[in-house]
Amino acid sequence: MNKKKCEGFKEQFINLNENELYEHIQTCESCRIEYLEMQKLSEVLKTVKPYYIKKQNIIKTFKTAAILTLTIFTGFMATYLTGTYHQNNLSFDDLGFPTDEYGFILVD
Ligand SMILES: [Zn+2]
Repeated sequence: MNKKKCEGFKEQFINLNENELYEHIQTCESCRIEYLEMQKLSEVLKTVKPYYIKKQNIIKTFKTAAILTLTIFTGFMATYLTGTYHQNNLSFDDLGFPTDEYGFILVD
């Protein structure tokens, strides 16, 4: 019918409305093949989509877990290092030097 006018499926897909496109693929074999390919792809995408969303959620969960872990770890490290620092920060008095009331070494 209008086979010679066909500029390819993409052109038809853009220019025709759904009914016109459907009519066109009844008469144009190359477009029908492309349409069926697209339908197949659409089905594949529909099948894949839930998995993709699931994957996105897993990534989101993983990121949240990683951030939480880091935050908690940093908190622990800060507490631990602070505690260690205070433990190791011996005063002159602790080391056995004679000190004054301010903790300075007494020099006669
Ligand atoms: Zn066509």
